[in-house]
Amino acid sequence: MSWPCVGEAGRTGDWRIGRPVLDPEKCIAAKKNRILCMQCWVFCPDNVITRTVPPTIDLEYCKGCGICAAVCPSQAIEMHPEHEHGASTEREDLSCGC
Ligand code: SF4
Ligand code: SF4
Repeated sequence: MSWPCVGEAGRTGDWRIGRPVLDPEKCIAAKKNRILCMQCWVFCPDNVITRTVPPTIDLEYCKGCGICAAVCPSQAIEMHPEHEHGASTEREDLSCGC
């Protein structure tokens, strides 16, 4: 199991290009107000989704892989392009210049 932490490349959320957006109106757990389903929590490889009602996503460390959206049985999670949420499309030049 992995745990969110700052790695050599910084917070993984810094370079995410797609953002998971959870709609509680569609989430099975939120609709039943119980810890149900939790497929997003089970399958998130970065362990950034809480086992709560509704689940929450730590965007500081979510890398935008889209697995949570793919496994959600009720399509409660959609992947949105990051720039729709105000993120810059400019990328810092990390090349060494050689
Ligand atoms: S997988 Fe989808 S329906 Fe299930 S708890 Fe997560 S967001 Fe809700
Ligand atoms: S997009 Fe990937 S890293 Fe982000 S919450 Fe979903 S499964 Fe986890």
